[in-house]
Amino acid sequence: MDYLKGLNPSQQQAVLQTEGPVMIIAGAGSGKTRVITYRVAHLVQKGVDSFNILVLTFTNKAAREMRERIMHVAGPDAKNIWMGTFHSVFAKILRVEADKIGYPSNFTIYDTDDSKSVLRAIIKEMSLDDKLYNQNFVMSRISASKNNLVSWQEYQQNPDIQADDFSSGRGQLGKIYENYVNRCFRAGAMDFDDLLYKTNELLKTHNDVLYKYQNKFKYLMVDEYQDTNFSQYLIVKKLASINQNICVVGDDAQSIYAFRGANIQNILNFEKDYPDLKVFKLEQNYRSTQNIVNVANSIISNNKEQLKKNVFSEKEAGDKIKVMRAFSDNEEGKMTAEAIFQDHANKGMKWNDFAILYRTNAQSRSMEEGLRKLNIPYKIYGGLSFYQRKEIKDLISYFRLTFNPNDEEALKRVINYPKRGIGDTTVDRIIVSAGQNNISPWEAIVNPTQFLDSRTANTVANFGMMIQSFQVITKTMSAYDSALYIAQHSGLLKDLYEDKSVEGLNRYENIQELLNGIKEFSEREDLEEKGLDIFMQDVALLTNDDKDKNKDADTVSLMTIHSSKGLEFPQVFVVGLEENLFPSQMSLNSRTDLEEERRLFYVAVTRAESKLTISYATSRFKFGTLINCEPSRFLDEIDAQYLELDFTAKKAPAGNPFFEDERSAWATKDTFSKPKAATPATNIKTTSILAKAHVPTPGFAPSDTSGLQVGMEVEHERFGFGKVLTLDGNKPDIKATIFFKEVGQKQLLLKFAKLRIV
Ligand code: ATP
Ligand code: MG
Repeated sequence: MDYLKGLNPSQQQAVLQTEGPVMIIAGAGSGKTRVITYRVAHLVQKGVDSFNILVLTFTNKAAREMRERIMHVAGPDAKNIWMGTFHSVFAKILRVEADKIGYPSNFTIYDTDDSKSVLRAIIKEMSLDDKLYNQNFVMSRISASKNNLVSWQEYQQNPDIQADDFSSGRGQLGKIYENYVNRCFRAGAMDFDDLLYKTNELLKTHNDVLYKYQNKFKYLMVDEYQDTNFSQYLIVKKLASINQNICVVGDDAQSIYAFRGANIQNILNFEKDYPDLKVFKLEQNYRSTQNIVNVANSIISNNKEQLKKNVFSEKEAGDKIKVMRAFSDNEEGKMTAEAIFQDHANKGMKWNDFAILYRTNAQSRSMEEGLRKLNIPYKIYGGLSFYQRKEIKDLISYFRLTFNPNDEEALKRVINYPKRGIGDTTVDRIIVSAGQNNISPWEAIVNPTQFLDSRTANTVANFGMMIQSFQVITKTMSAYDSALYIAQHSGLLKDLYEDKSVEGLNRYENIQELLNGIKEFSEREDLEEKGLDIFMQDVALLTNDDKDKNKDADTVSLMTIHSSKGLEFPQVFVVGLEENLFPSQMSLNSRTDLEEERRLFYVAVTRAESKLTISYATSRFKFGTLINCEPSRFLDEIDAQYLELDFTAKKAPAGNPFFEDERSAWATKDTFSKPKAATPATNIKTTSILAKAHVPTPGFAPSDTSGLQVGMEVEHERFGFGKVLTLDGNKPDIKATIFFKEVGQKQLLLKFAKLRIV
């Protein structure tokens, strides 16, 4: 059991406690995920059949990485462990058991776009005001109901819910919910929430099925337990109820999905559900330097609702946390890129040692621009998934329709794409007639003469026959050959090929990429079944990150804080620390929401291993207009002893009304505190930071340093006066080592250094 040496005593105990209920609630970076990984490896080593282990992770990527590590310790047997997200694991089970709840095993998984499209159609058919019944609002209502296991019948009968809906003038929500459920069922489709809702239904109504999986999964483990919702909580509880070998790990301070129904109560319930519960504490953070851990602790201590934890690091104190101020979002992107470039050049770091984290996807634009200008390779995680792109969804819709011709959303997408003369009116007529006759639109398509005039009926019937021909070929051909056949014979490939615009070319290439992916899938040796239908099963659950072939590529990572959960990087930049952005405007009205934003900030800073940089801009473009931004209150909350201000931003371009001269702002104003929040304490801490800053000579401007030589005296905008010790490297990447009187020795990349020769 050599592998246990990589664990501290509390972690070892948690790993060795394989029987009975176990809970680990501990701070970020304390090795919770590591404990799960070692625990599984230990179980397999101990002789537990790997088919009997279920591990639920937050992303599929996390599951893949964990599996690789387990295989390292426990050997190839680990291949058989059931591991993945709640959605992917239970989609797999639902496919096996689908007939028991009236679904075909090749049911479609509707993604968010599909669900919204169904809702739009229903709202239109019911002649409701689409502003009052805004699709996003309706969708979140239905989603919340499903995640709390409230059926449409219960929804309509619940007096509180009804009173609530009627008082807001939205009395039809229950009816929309009912129609939505029926519409999805008729289409043989489940939305994301259904994957959990239907699993609960299945386990509740079919004791034999429940029993089967209770016996199969003798050992259950759940990572990121703080972000499970009620529906997930109940599935886990049911599955574990016989063997009770359940281990959950999480951190209440990192609960960031309450807006999607995650319930911190699940942690508290856990103690009630399992009186024999063994709780393990992990307090040492192995990820980050002391400064980073201290900053994280100082952030989270502002939250009232949290379980007390004592998190410490035994790593070095490390650099202070750098705070950068930019005069605009573009400048922020530029400064971030430059900082990355410098450390890459000067410290021999790899690009993938860096991550840029932001609150909203829209912030990636200015970051990308900055990175592109310096030719820094980067990859955006999350965002619009490859599988959400129009052309990819179009082709995939042909596949969906082939395997599930009742899939109404896929049908609507491709029935007239590429154009074949079936207009919207005809499509509407098909759908409405199908509804009236209680048949699916597909049944109407293969038997169109009773609903449509003969010419249109003929065109529609041809479309139906084309899909039927696809159904035939997919039975005999490989996944790749089928996919290619469908891409060609649907006319889609030709349509894209003929579009010679840059975008058209791009779309054509994306289709080629999808086909390549399917080819790789058809050639996989570890799979027994590899038809196109099997490839399609999980496709709705895939994200960009799953597609990534080149996962070891050396690139800077860009992602929202939400998607950075569980990850770690040597250097992290958290950008956009501004009021109304982070914390977001929506969170300012209640303490609960504000505390969730603060936890999000805690998650962001705890991703960093050795260096953390936080930045904000004093102005930013929002919806096309330049707005003035105030620094985030979160900055003010951090204990200033851990911070180092880096205000190297240049003067604003003439005409920017929001940018005050850097130095006068420094000298005269409490930089972070907003007037209402200013207390003597905050003044003192800000002044103490300011005292350390070099005040440049009046009129200071960085000058041409191409003639710089060893021994020369220089002035740096921030570090003050110093003397050049060495010059290394070739133009344009010359590095200067300079001894500064105030701050000591620094190595600077000349092309970025704000220096003048004195
Ligand atoms: P998060 O809350 O962010 O998900 P976590 O508690 O899951 O964090 P891990 O990701 O498991 O923490 O561990 C953080 C880092 O510390 C990882 O790089 C891990 O390998 C390392 N680590 C954990 N425990 C030890 C240990 N006992 N010895 C050495 N390294 C460790
Ligand atoms: Mg973790």
